[in-house]
Amino acid sequence: MAGKATLSFPTGEKSTISTGLFIDNKFVPALDGKTFGVVNPSTGEEIAQVSEASAKDIDVAVKSARKAFKEVWGEKTPASQRGKILMRLADLVEQNNDELARIESLDNGKPFSISSTFDVPSVAANIRYFAGWADKNHGKTIEVDTQSDFHYTRHEPIGVCGQIIPWNFPLLMFAWKIAPALATGNTVVLKTAEQTPLSALKMCELIAEAGVPPGVLNVVSGFGPVAGAAIASHMDIDKVAFTGSTLVGRNIMKAAASSNLKKVTLELGGKSPTIVCDDADLDNAVSWATCGILMNSGQVCCAGSRLFVQDTIYDKFMEKLQEKFTMIKGMTKDGFAKDSFQGPQVSQLQFDRIMEHIETGKKEGATLRQGGNRHGDKGYFIEPTIFENVPVDAKINREEIFGPVLVVNKWKDEEELIARANDTLYGLAAAVHTTHIRKGIEIAHKLQAGTVWINQHNMLNPQVPFGGFKASGIGRELGEYALANYTNVKAVHLALGRQPPI
Ligand code: NAP
Ligand code: MG
Repeated sequence: MAGKATLSFPTGEKSTISTGLFIDNKFVPALDGKTFGVVNPSTGEEIAQVSEASAKDIDVAVKSARKAFKEVWGEKTPASQRGKILMRLADLVEQNNDELARIESLDNGKPFSISSTFDVPSVAANIRYFAGWADKNHGKTIEVDTQSDFHYTRHEPIGVCGQIIPWNFPLLMFAWKIAPALATGNTVVLKTAEQTPLSALKMCELIAEAGVPPGVLNVVSGFGPVAGAAIASHMDIDKVAFTGSTLVGRNIMKAAASSNLKKVTLELGGKSPTIVCDDADLDNAVSWATCGILMNSGQVCCAGSRLFVQDTIYDKFMEKLQEKFTMIKGMTKDGFAKDSFQGPQVSQLQFDRIMEHIETGKKEGATLRQGGNRHGDKGYFIEPTIFENVPVDAKINREEIFGPVLVVNKWKDEEELIARANDTLYGLAAAVHTTHIRKGIEIAHKLQAGTVWINQHNMLNPQVPFGGFKASGIGRELGEYALANYTNVKAVHLALGRQPPI
């Protein structure tokens, strides 16, 4: 029998969830009986033990997904029926909004005020959006020069998809991955991040309740180098989709190449520039730049971590930015505190990595304008931090810190600005703040990034594609573009009276 855990929230509520591996719509223990501990990052205390998948468990999950692909899902369930089931899942997410949000906040540390109004509602919106696509993802008929043939394409499901997700938006990344995969008829084996497996386990109950047939969606908790690696190199997984670090993304691609050349999509890191022009609405720009880096404790792949402020407004802008950061420092608290905006970092490891970056920044000669310290005396909280006068080749200017640490630069000449903004391995996102709309658009078109915001930041919609240029990834999630990641295009050529050549 797989285990259960009762979670106690600071608000007094409790939730009991199953902690096994979810295979064939049943919670089962790992074959070798192993479990691992899950920690509340606001306190550092253990809150649950969950099953830990080994490569053997991945094999079992893949067999279940393969059988479901052949026998019940894929071409066996009418596309409109797949859509209907996903619509039901979206409804169930909405009905369980607060419980899912509480679990997410306890496990990840993010404010409940945000998980309950943003993360979980966005999960429902994403699932519903792709549910709508299920019976609308048609191929084309194609006219060619010879009129004696008929040509058309079909968008067929790829098969069994392996999906590996990170810990920063555990439920939302779950939805981004499963919704397009299931809508297009694939079956799935998904591994959650070791730091944040709990909200997906609650989702598994809803998946069964929504009527997703057994084997269509299998969810395992476990570690990257074991369960994740087994997915990436599995000979019977047809596609792997990954969100996380660039380092691991490279490994996934190598494993896919040296196993069965499974299809790969990657959503990796970023070092995204935020550009402020002297004609920007200053208060707005300060607020968006703050949200751009401090939202989700800086643990956002498209965080605006390199800020470029035009020299003529630099001093005024920085004064206002410092005030905002001071305000957020006062709102850096346990996610269940009413006025929390910035929770803890997700783990001791992430906390240590960020503090190391801050120390390196000081040694590299950057000026620490604000923050830079641990916040409070328990949990993994870090003060909102600003560095100025940062050397171009400093590590803090080059590497993704994935924490509440902003690097600020001054700019004067627009051409030089664009070159500096693009001078990074990454190309996930960028933002421009200006009231001059033509200038905003011109700059947006010159930036090498998959997403550019004008006068906002971090705002994403299920309908609009998201993904990276350069080392930030391969493929697009969200929007109609995401469907291509989960379908094989088949061209059918039908002879209409054409004679054989010999
Ligand atoms: P990570 O190691 O890349 O983790 C992401 C996912 O990949 C997790 O599920 C992880 O498993 C799994 N994984 C790890 N090693 C693997 C392997 N060899 N084969 C297959 N899967 C593997 O990221 P992290 O260590 O948690 O965070 C490190 C950095 O990644 C951050 O500082 C940040 O720069 C970046 N990051 C980016 C995003 C994003 O949204 N683009 C999200 C999170 C992190 P575990 O369960 O064992 O972790
Ligand atoms: Mg990791």
